[in-house]
Amino acid sequence: MSTSAPHAIAIIGSGATGYTAAKVLRAEGFTGSITMIGSEQAAPYRRPTVSKELLTGTKSIEQVQLGSAIDGVDVRSGVTAVGVADSTVLLDAGDPVPYDALLLATGSRARQLDLPCHVFTLRGVADVEPLHADILRTGSLLVIGGGLIGCEAAAAARSLGAEVTVLEAAAAPLNRIAPAAISQMYVDLHADNGIAFHSDVAVTDFTEQRDGTTLVTAADGRSWSAGTVLVSVGSVPNVELGADMGLEIGSGVLVDAGMRTSTPNVYAAGDVAEVPNRILGGTYRSEHWNGALDQAARAARSMMGVEPGDLDVPWGWSTQHGVNLQFAGWTGPDDEYVIARGSIADRRFTACALRDGRLVGAIGVGYPKDIRQVRAAIATGSPVQRDQLTEAWLDGPQAVVR
Ligand SMILES: Cc1cc2nc3c(=O)[nH]c(=O)nc-3n(C[C@H](O)[C@H](O)[C@H](O)COP(=O)(O)OP(=O)(O)OC[C@H]3O[C@@H](n4cnc5c(N)ncnc54)[C@H](O)[C@@H]3O)c2cc1C
Repeated sequence: MSTSAPHAIAIIGSGATGYTAAKVLRAEGFTGSITMIGSEQAAPYRRPTVSKELLTGTKSIEQVQLGSAIDGVDVRSGVTAVGVADSTVLLDAGDPVPYDALLLATGSRARQLDLPCHVFTLRGVADVEPLHADILRTGSLLVIGGGLIGCEAAAAARSLGAEVTVLEAAAAPLNRIAPAAISQMYVDLHADNGIAFHSDVAVTDFTEQRDGTTLVTAADGRSWSAGTVLVSVGSVPNVELGADMGLEIGSGVLVDAGMRTSTPNVYAAGDVAEVPNRILGGTYRSEHWNGALDQAARAARSMMGVEPGDLDVPWGWSTQHGVNLQFAGWTGPDDEYVIARGSIADRRFTACALRDGRLVGAIGVGYPKDIRQVRAAIATGSPVQRDQLTEAWLDGPQAVVR
């Protein structure tokens, strides 16, 4: 540990990022005090299960906890940090927490719509039970938003026996990360499982009807009704504390590769952080599980004066109807895609994404090793030609990638 290492570390947020940072700090020999403040009552858990195993009821919260208590960490659960002043975190309950290094691990929240009727959103474990119970009670679910979480929740509700419809504002679901052909594969996958998808839906109105169902109307006159409505229209990073502290904010709290913010001794990591993209330039927010773990570990090492090196090429996954999609890098709908292995029709493939003639990512089903290979290739920064993107290339010598 460097001589300038802090003695008292405060972590705001007890999700994957907060928990992992505390764990890595202890694992790396930090012996000072660690206080972790978390608004949620639940002990740190695997948030990806919220729209999957927890919503289907196939796992309990105990089964998805992140790990055991960390030695000597003062965990304040169900407590919200309401301000930071004079190197002290102010709380809505209990004693303020002085620090000499602070990690903002406040994550994101579900984007809310201001509506005249009751709808659900899905972000944390507290959202699961009310939504699960309502789906079982009404037997029908309308999902507004065909992104990853909306699609996963639709699949989960279908497995509970509900009638499920998904409305998407764009031309196709998952269109932030996938090209049209893969989006269509998902429309077909959901249709095979009894879920109706409607695209290009600009919702204009929500009306609660006499029978207790909600009528959702689109600008073009189409309408749908269901007993339960889930609004899944993206997330908003919890940057407010950082903004009040005067930190530089973009789409998240701006940090360098060591998770350092614009203020000394203040770090940010996970969903709330906006990190540099050393490969493509610019910045991005990861918003995926592995990014949170990687960034948390780097923040911990930085706090201890250890330079953590280059950021990982990000990757994430989504499971719907038992199909596990993986994606890496910075894929988008307008990239040029090369199917380097398998076929989309078989729902088993690796598609590599090229932008301006360079490899920027991959998306696929069934070949996780390929996704690692592409991440490694992107990390080296070496040019890869379109014609090279074949099975032989994917099976070639692997660069080391975490
Ligand atoms: C439903 C769902 C499914 C997902 N599925 C996948 C998946 O399949 N694959 C994948 O790669 N990623 C998935 N993700 C994304 C992944 O879970 C997140 O990227 C990851 O959890 C981010 O961790 P985090 O700790 O940075 O933020 P969060 O998990 O959001 O945790 C932040 C914590 O900080 C707390 N907090 C916020 N403000 C304060 C405050 N002022 N005081 C105290 N506490 C505060 C919040 O209550 C929360 O507990 C999913 C996300 C969701 C919501």
